[in-house]
Amino acid sequence: MTPQFAPVEPFDLVIFGGTGDLAMRKLLPALLHRFNDGQMPPGSRVIAVARDHGFSSVQYRERVQQALSGTGDRAGLEGFLPLLDFHALDVTSAEGWQSFAQEVQRVGERVRVFYLATSPDIFVPICEGLHSHGLAAGQSRVVIEKPIGRDLASAARINDAVGRFFSEQQTYRIDHYLGKETVQNLTALRFGNALFEPLWNAAHIDHVQITVAETVGVESRGPYYDKSGALRDMVQNHLLQLLCLVAMEPPAAFSADAIRDEKLKVLRALKPIDASNAAQLTVRGQYRAGAANGQSAPGYAEELGHTSDTETFVAIKAEVANWRWADVPFYLRTGKRMPERLSEIVVTFRSVPHSIFEPSAGPLQSNKLVLRLQPDEGVKFWLMNKVPGPGGMRLRHVAMDMSFAETFNVRHVDAYERLLGDVVRGNPMLFMRRDEVEAGWRWADQILAAWADSHESPKPYTAGSWGPSAAVALIERDGRTWNDDAG
Ligand code: NAP
Repeated sequence: MTPQFAPVEPFDLVIFGGTGDLAMRKLLPALLHRFNDGQMPPGSRVIAVARDHGFSSVQYRERVQQALSGTGDRAGLEGFLPLLDFHALDVTSAEGWQSFAQEVQRVGERVRVFYLATSPDIFVPICEGLHSHGLAAGQSRVVIEKPIGRDLASAARINDAVGRFFSEQQTYRIDHYLGKETVQNLTALRFGNALFEPLWNAAHIDHVQITVAETVGVESRGPYYDKSGALRDMVQNHLLQLLCLVAMEPPAAFSADAIRDEKLKVLRALKPIDASNAAQLTVRGQYRAGAANGQSAPGYAEELGHTSDTETFVAIKAEVANWRWADVPFYLRTGKRMPERLSEIVVTFRSVPHSIFEPSAGPLQSNKLVLRLQPDEGVKFWLMNKVPGPGGMRLRHVAMDMSFAETFNVRHVDAYERLLGDVVRGNPMLFMRRDEVEAGWRWADQILAAWADSHESPKPYTAGSWGPSAAVALIERDGRTWNDDAG
């Protein structure tokens, strides 16, 4: 199937933090793909900004060439590299902004995307600099990355700071999970088919599981991660966004604000988890030495170089307190050093009310809709089927399996690629609005406060396992199991 691209006008993309890890590993490879797909028309520019390293644009391009060659993706590189320029600027200093602004304004008015791929500490000087040099007006947009704060107060400070210079319509808060194909397909499945929506409620759905598992540990990101932990790093943003898309009411239109309004209602309907119930509804874990990817792996404290009470795993039994979802648990789980790299949403339907089959037919298992976000994006729908051939009525739970790669035979589009394209086009649908981010923190803050009050350390789990045994107990005491190994 041939990919369909709507043409875009030449644009400028300025990456503050153009020498950083995010730029080299995610943004520049994504831009190369956009270039290869004809989505960076001649005249478009990518201006990388970082402090003065004494290197020129030519030397910067050599660095990028090396970084991108490492990804094995060389196609189109020769045409792409000349679009890149390096501009040395310490954004915290008054010097240098004038010449930077002149460089940007050298070409006339056009879409200008300012990607803040830096620590949030310097968002204010960047936005102030852009504003005072006339770069925040017109078709300018600013992109900010997670973490948007570490709690509600700090998120509000960042949002206020950016909001002084850029309107909400100009502000794109990236959660790259929203750029994943399966995540968007969830909306298509729910609202493009008559099949699911009548069943999408507490009367027919038993529970929902959302798992985001990584096999990696913290590695060199230890000092950053240790200040954050799994709840802040993964749950408050990625897992809550996925929960919202599963739980939201049908939006009135397929438009950014209609969808974001519905997601916000879900966040506001999350049942509070606080000191009164956190011990029953949450599990914190931290990995100890074990094995990962077939090799021995150190524990978190060894990787970090000191002991710590930061969680690298969290499991939560959440609930959306409204008519549609009353008493339907949403089990959320994320961790590092898990047995596989896996992100999935599992919607388990209720059992049939009565079985007409003999026990010899085998047990009746529930229908399940499994949306796989990674490793290979796709959808599985589990149904009871008759085993073909003689032998009477024997039933088996089998999956209708739709792998996107096989079904559509198109190149896998990375989330950053799609999201960068959406910023250039001015489509904010897959980005988080300020009120969503803050509603997520309002819920997460209570859990963080309850954990802090309890003074309990995270429960240990062996690297390469699915987390502490308490996480298994969290779901099994409700008579349910995690979807591990079930596909
Ligand atoms: P990083 O590798 O530390 O890069 C930071 C960048 O900021 C560097 O290019 C650095 O350049 C630049 N910078 C720092 N101070 C500056 C100043 N005063 N003036 C101009 N440039 C300055 O960080 P990162 O991992 O790329 O992360 C960037 C942001 O994205 C962070 O907020 C991070 O939490 C977020 N994020 C990262 C990832 C990821 O995969 N890396 C994923 C999600 C979110 P010089 O030091 O050379 O000046």
